Amino acid sequence: MKRRDFLKSAPLVAGASAASTFARVPQNQPAPDSGKGTLPGKIALEEHFMLPDFVEYFEETYPNISPEIAKMGLGVLPDLGDKRIEIMDRNGIDFVVLSLAGPGVQVERDAAVALRKSKSANDFLAREIQKRPSRYGGFAHLAMHNPVHAAGELERCIHDLKFQGAMINGQTNGEYLDLDKYSVFWERVAALEAPIYLHPANPVDRPAAYAGHTELWGPVCSWAFETAVHALRLVFAGVFDRYPKARLVLGHMGETLPLNLWRFDSRWMVCNRGSRTLPQMPSFYIKRNIAITTSGVCADAPLRCALDAMGEDNVMFSVDYPFEKTELAAQFIEHAKISENERIKVASENAKRILHLDRRIG
Ligand code: MN
Repeated sequence: MKRRDFLKSAPLVAGASAASTFARVPQNQPAPDSGKGTLPGKIALEEHFMLPDFVEYFEETYPNISPEIAKMGLGVLPDLGDKRIEIMDRNGIDFVVLSLAGPGVQVERDAAVALRKSKSANDFLAREIQKRPSRYGGFAHLAMHNPVHAAGELERCIHDLKFQGAMINGQTNGEYLDLDKYSVFWERVAALEAPIYLHPANPVDRPAAYAGHTELWGPVCSWAFETAVHALRLVFAGVFDRYPKARLVLGHMGETLPLNLWRFDSRWMVCNRGSRTLPQMPSFYIKRNIAITTSGVCADAPLRCALDAMGEDNVMFSVDYPFEKTELAAQFIEHAKISENERIKVASENAKRILHLDRRIG
């Protein structure tokens, strides 16, 4: 069996039985069609594409990135054909969950335009997935301007288009996902058990802390902190207490959260909480309701920290294509200083369970 056929034939179920599926895969020989990898085929889930209608939104990130990477991105992102597949094959990646490169309609002011465009992007992606169902999955692109519409579109994408969840690029017109108006959305997220990948983007304002430092505005610094704060807003607002089955995914080794779990708990006890209460400690919800990916971080120390802090079931491989080098990310996870059990979980097993890839068959 070719490794890429695993989605069609392997009994993809959670927990021990999924692990035993891979226990039968020889760990010391390259799989027949992998080229170089020794792992079962990897799954990656922060892998972007672009549509012409969304380039003007992507241009909003130009102040955050170098002109070279913007140009490279626009050149590579539209391809969903043989070139992308060839890069996956060369690096032992069997399956990617595709998402529109940000910020997308999160920065569209007109709610009706945002909804229309998001639906057309999802329809396009569904057609592309149909061409290569054993290689591509999808995250829905959602207009969060109207939470009821967003919940409806998420359900359509999960039930009708067979997507794996949704990717949301930060705040929408200054509003964050912990606001009461989004309860209807989180209720649906929990009911569908559809993971929500919270992807970095800019806030609406530019804090004085970044004045005069363009290098800190974007992937070096501000995106991680903006995204970490957004995730913590959800935790401390009790979203995961109210919706225990809601799950968030954070990229970039958890956007600094894993390093700080102890301190979140410790200082929660002494900070000015206002009227906020949580039945459990903050770290309880972070570990239960948030999973992270290795996207854009290829270093052993943060990976070790992430596995220890979040648990070995909550860390998933990703690349952040095309903004990160696929070969570097693949080589990193294949040789990282972690146990073989952890490596298999990070490379594919955790993603299969968290993304409900078993829904794709049968
Ligand atoms: Mn990304």
